[in-house]
Amino acid sequence: MSNPVTLLALSPEETQERVVALGGKPFHAKVIRTAVFSKGQLEYKEMTSLSAELRERLAVELPILVGREVDRVVARDGTTKLLIEFPREDGRGPLIETVHIPSHDPAKDATLCVSSQVGCPVACPFCASGRLGLERNLTRAEIIEQYLRGRAVGPLARTVVMGIGEPLLNLVELSAALTVVREEMGIGARKITVSTVGFPDRLEKLSPTKPGFQLAISLHTPFDDQRAVLVPAMAKIPISDILRAGDKWFQDTGRQITYEYVVLGGVNDTQEHSKHLGERLRGRRATVNLIPYNPVEGDRFQRPSRADVEAFADELRDAHVVTTIRWSRGLDSDAACGQLRLRAER
Ligand code: SAH
Repeated sequence: MSNPVTLLALSPEETQERVVALGGKPFHAKVIRTAVFSKGQLEYKEMTSLSAELRERLAVELPILVGREVDRVVARDGTTKLLIEFPREDGRGPLIETVHIPSHDPAKDATLCVSSQVGCPVACPFCASGRLGLERNLTRAEIIEQYLRGRAVGPLARTVVMGIGEPLLNLVELSAALTVVREEMGIGARKITVSTVGFPDRLEKLSPTKPGFQLAISLHTPFDDQRAVLVPAMAKIPISDILRAGDKWFQDTGRQITYEYVVLGGVNDTQEHSKHLGERLRGRRATVNLIPYNPVEGDRFQRPSRADVEAFADELRDAHVVTTIRWSRGLDSDAACGQLRLRAER
């Protein structure tokens, strides 16, 4: 028996065809999509303007959410990690993580961190997500489902595609999902950040189309030989090509880039690093976001001290590079991306 098609996989036009085929009126499609995407109703039984009979048929023939929440871990600071299993016909399906991160400021809404793939082929040695390789891309429906489940935890100020996976390797499904997120969930392009290791050729093709999201590029070092170790899938791509693609992105879209830099104690946080990074980024309108390394079970890196990260940030600021530090939240609950899944899969 095959899984029924989910609402989240359908365009508005396709939804209309499907709803009519199931005995509804054409305008019911809009009623349903507004209920789900804009009001956040995740079950047909909440849509009381539809007849009970239609609601029952829809629940069977056009399910909304198809994943199952297999684990929910709430850290002391309120960070909520959802471990979601998507169904597979032959038994247990793939697991992915979606993380709802409340703001430090109780008056502000949360950030949602979404996954783009099941596993990841890039294999950065400090990252839990690449440990088991790539299983498959997520579908548009599975990406949208994370946004819906995440928003059900609490209102969102910002969303980042920084969970498991390399989003630029799943661009067709991701773009389709983000269209729904922007146009039907009402989350604007400036509130969506996509984080990538930065394939220059893909970025250069993409930027003239003015994609509806902000871009973050994971750089991690100013040295080509070290980047080959820290981001193995990009070993042959010089950092200068990445920076050039980043500059073009800014020209084409008018949106500044964030360069992410995981700070690995004693590995990429020396004064040589800050000096060269400063030289490379001088004059560029970009921000560096330092991410102190979150320890992953069984790997060889050290979390840097707070003082060392702050000193590194100050060195960059002295070189006129705008620098922020992202202190991770929810660390008491295996919160570094990909760790819940890694543990569950093992
Ligand atoms: N593949 C994309 C998006 C997913 S990772 C990318 O690499 O950008 C999102 C960010 O988290 C990346 O900058 C990644 O390097 C970082 N990250 C991965 N593992 C980490 C860890 N153990 N501690 C801190 N940051 C980590």
